[in-house]
Amino acid sequence: MIATATTPDARTALLDACARALDHPGACLREWKQRHPAAHVVGYFPTYVPTELIYACGALPTGLWGGSIAVSRANAYIQQFTCSIVRSTTEYALHGAFDQLDAVLFPPICDSAKLVASIWALNFSERFMVDMVTLPERLDSDASVAYLAAELRRVGATLAQKLGVTIDDGALACAIDRCNRLRASQQAFCSRRATLEATMPLAHAAAVLKAGTLMHADDYLPLLDAFLAELTSDARSRRSKIPVVVSGLACQLPHPDFLALFDEAGFAVVGDDLLLGMCGGVAVATGGDPYLALARAFTQGPPLATRHHDTIHRHEFILDQWQRGAARGVVFLVPKFCEPEWFDLRYLKAEMEKRGIPNLVLDFDEDPTGFGPVLTRLEAFAEILM
Ligand code: SF4
Repeated sequence: MIATATTPDARTALLDACARALDHPGACLREWKQRHPAAHVVGYFPTYVPTELIYACGALPTGLWGGSIAVSRANAYIQQFTCSIVRSTTEYALHGAFDQLDAVLFPPICDSAKLVASIWALNFSERFMVDMVTLPERLDSDASVAYLAAELRRVGATLAQKLGVTIDDGALACAIDRCNRLRASQQAFCSRRATLEATMPLAHAAAVLKAGTLMHADDYLPLLDAFLAELTSDARSRRSKIPVVVSGLACQLPHPDFLALFDEAGFAVVGDDLLLGMCGGVAVATGGDPYLALARAFTQGPPLATRHHDTIHRHEFILDQWQRGAARGVVFLVPKFCEPEWFDLRYLKAEMEKRGIPNLVLDFDEDPTGFGPVLTRLEAFAEILM
């Protein structure tokens, strides 16, 4: 049950549109193409591909999130000990689910993503163009910004050539403006939730943000903004709940039924870094060289398991959420076989324990069944925190 107070119309319109985008992505894509017959569609793998480049080409960016498909054919291409988003997206691709796409862009966030990008380039290039946005390892030097700006220029030019369009600085500036508005609204949505002005179950919040990676910003933003404009406080709904922070990787989300267990176990999720990869980028400066501005914004973004800063530390972000939300504990959600997140977990747990913050680690994949033991563990954690 959604516990936010808005008029039913704004809330229902937003949630219905998001549910449709998530449950029927193929049908939504076909409808969009019918409305824009000359436009292209470009898929991107999470967590960082600058969608501004895609919008600047007049195309629709669409996130490739994988899902609960039984993986069989992909086993011939990818080891079974890789994370489920890599395996399920490949299975979908082998079933032709992405054949409507004109191109797919990957970020090199981990060895598995690099592996899947090269497998797709080898096997699917006749269906759609595959390219990698090669991000710098170090984020704290001017050389990183200059390098990334040149790489974004290369990716933009390659994409535009493939789509048969031109990409000029004016179009890119408009795309930056559109994506800045999108990020600002999504961050307002997150902070309204995190500051307890309103409470929305994690599963619904994740659906709203994820749908923003599937719908065109011009269709999605008016719905989100109308919802935000009418959102009012409803502290009653969370008074009996236990406030926690949820930490995880934004690359792969658990199944919605898994996320719904937090509500069922009596938790109010007052903060998270789970959704940062979808909406956590900083605003891109306008004016000047747009490629440099995009590159600079990337190096200033929040820390993720897949994006390390020497000076911005991930545990500080989690602690900040914990403090602001007056949380009583932290739950770590770790995708199975996800090396970056398991590497971070050891240090993050140590930082929590140093401060006496109770925490729980849950691993997951995209399997939509067998959540009983997860609920039991969450309920046991709730009892500890009461
Ligand atoms: S879930 Fe982890 S291992 Fe899998 S693609 Fe994302 S970052 Fe890489």
